[in-house]
Amino acid sequence: MIKVTLKGDVVKEFENGITPMEIAKGLGAGLYKACCAAHVDGVLTDLRTPLDHDCKLELLTFEDKDGAWTFRHTASHILAQAVKRLYPNAKLAIGPAIDNGFYYDFDVEKPFSQEDLTRIEGEMKKIVKEGLPLERFELSPEEAKKMMEEKNEPYKVELIEKHAASGEPISFFKQGDFVDLCAGPHLPDTSRVKAFKLTSSTGAYWHGDSNLPMLCRVYGTAFPKASQLEEYLTALEEAKKRDHNIIGRQLKYFTTSDIIGQGLPLLMPKGAKLFQILNRYVQDKEENEYGYIMTKTPYMAKSDLYKLSGHWGHYKESMFVLGDEEKDKEVFALRPMTCPFQYQIYLSEKHSYRDLPLRYGETSTLFRNEASGEMHGLIRVRQFTISEGHLIVRPDQLEEEFKNCLKLTKEIMTDLGLIDELTYRFSKWDPNDRDKYEGTPEMWEEAQSTMRTILDHLEVDYTEAEGEAAFYGPKLDIQTKNVHGKEDTLITIQIDLMLAHQFEMTYTDKDNTQKYPYIIHRTSLGCYERTIAMLLEKYAGALPLWLSPVQAKILPISEKQLDRCREIQKELRAAGLRVELDDRNEKIGYKIREAQLEKIPYMLIVGEKEAASGMVSVRSRKEGDMGSIPADIFIKIAQREVETKAK
Ligand SMILES: [Zn+2]
Ligand SMILES: [Zn+2]
Repeated sequence: MIKVTLKGDVVKEFENGITPMEIAKGLGAGLYKACCAAHVDGVLTDLRTPLDHDCKLELLTFEDKDGAWTFRHTASHILAQAVKRLYPNAKLAIGPAIDNGFYYDFDVEKPFSQEDLTRIEGEMKKIVKEGLPLERFELSPEEAKKMMEEKNEPYKVELIEKHAASGEPISFFKQGDFVDLCAGPHLPDTSRVKAFKLTSSTGAYWHGDSNLPMLCRVYGTAFPKASQLEEYLTALEEAKKRDHNIIGRQLKYFTTSDIIGQGLPLLMPKGAKLFQILNRYVQDKEENEYGYIMTKTPYMAKSDLYKLSGHWGHYKESMFVLGDEEKDKEVFALRPMTCPFQYQIYLSEKHSYRDLPLRYGETSTLFRNEASGEMHGLIRVRQFTISEGHLIVRPDQLEEEFKNCLKLTKEIMTDLGLIDELTYRFSKWDPNDRDKYEGTPEMWEEAQSTMRTILDHLEVDYTEAEGEAAFYGPKLDIQTKNVHGKEDTLITIQIDLMLAHQFEMTYTDKDNTQKYPYIIHRTSLGCYERTIAMLLEKYAGALPLWLSPVQAKILPISEKQLDRCREIQKELRAAGLRVELDDRNEKIGYKIREAQLEKIPYMLIVGEKEAASGMVSVRSRKEGDMGSIPADIFIKIAQREVETKAK
């Protein structure tokens, strides 16, 4: 007999060799049906693995992370079996569960089309109906290799060869006519995967390596209940309607081009206009309200600069290096940050305590070599522009200046309507990974405790993350989530006690001695591309009037009103409004529908009556039909809406 500790620390005795599945059965039919896998002493285990010692047993359902993982991984086996039945020549790669679903990679001559996916789904349904048990068996590495060679599965052979070194037996799972190399665990049989859907297929390199074959990756998701699947798919559709990577292209904010390269989006006229609106707004605010001075520094520098700043040692992997370090006398690199450039401006003259704080601001274009698998629309890119700034401050000014950095960014995020979505993260160093960072433990202790004190004074509600600091100091990261729930840093404010020492940046204090200042690295709006992505997702493309690249469209009912429409356009432009005239020879209904699809805030329709009376018939995206009003009244309404930055 063995003693098994169950939920609530209940200890029960069982026959040696009993399986978690049999224990679940004894505990009730509901649990037995819902059960996906087990944790035995914390280790994820298949329900049919016999228990042979006293242990702690936790039965996992779909509600548990590992339970859902097992459920969806089983669905990936069903997918692979269906593909092999329909396309016997397809070669199998791997098929893990992922967040929200699963995928399987296949080597096929022709990538699967939507029709293929529908066909595969049909076959999967049959396999579910067949209720095939998934049975585990083991082979020696030699036998395993031989079997997969006979089945002509080169990717599986490669995986077996990798495992073979350990000499351990290789485990397989068999369901009906299908065998897959796998460690498990799985559901007991295929009938439990009731609700599933193949959501998309895409290309993916074997091992994520662009030198290796391109495979066809089929994504899917699976749930125990049809209603859960329905709910998930609806939410996915909703997310798609907001996904900036879809609507940003549809609404012509940006595009990409293979010949230019991955992670290098092109802002189209609308995107460039939005960029300019944001940029002017930020620069004016920083200069006029927060005392920033502007710099404009080079996009590249010699490696010497980055060696001094520490980027060469800590960040080179992410930089675009121009030249060959072994052969060339001088090697350059595109800048990943502006800090060392603005320091050179500081160093170009002497400073006294009276000059501080100095707040350098720059609309700065940066380059970072992100892995190609990481690219996503405007959110993860290789070239981007940020509202970057470095504040050179005396220790007695640090708290006040930090506070103002946070205040500035909060004002901007409030104006943009993004403030409610933000969360705050205090990113600290990892003392066990000293090589990643500059400075001494004492400096880190000081910088982090200073930052903590400031954050607590400001009553910032933050979480803490170890190992997320910059190499030169701790950060306050202001985080946001995209429509798919993926978290990214939008804004960061950092305290740096190290780099002033590295660069010999000093100021003459009251007592005539040379002192090192503190440096605050910060952004106010963040990276323009990412913030534009967040705006498009937040407003589903229907941006507030003050941010809309085209604020109004004038639609003449017939050619006869064209002259009057041109006059109105001139008046609106003179009043600072961004307005287009749709002078195409199309039906008015068609023009209205198009302007609606473009999410234009106001349509000004001009017919014979309006043209004669100086009126425009206004259709608002928000309010609907507003009737006919004099053109100059419309101008006042729109100007007011822009000034108040109404959402
Ligand atoms: Zn498996
Ligand atoms: Zn910096």
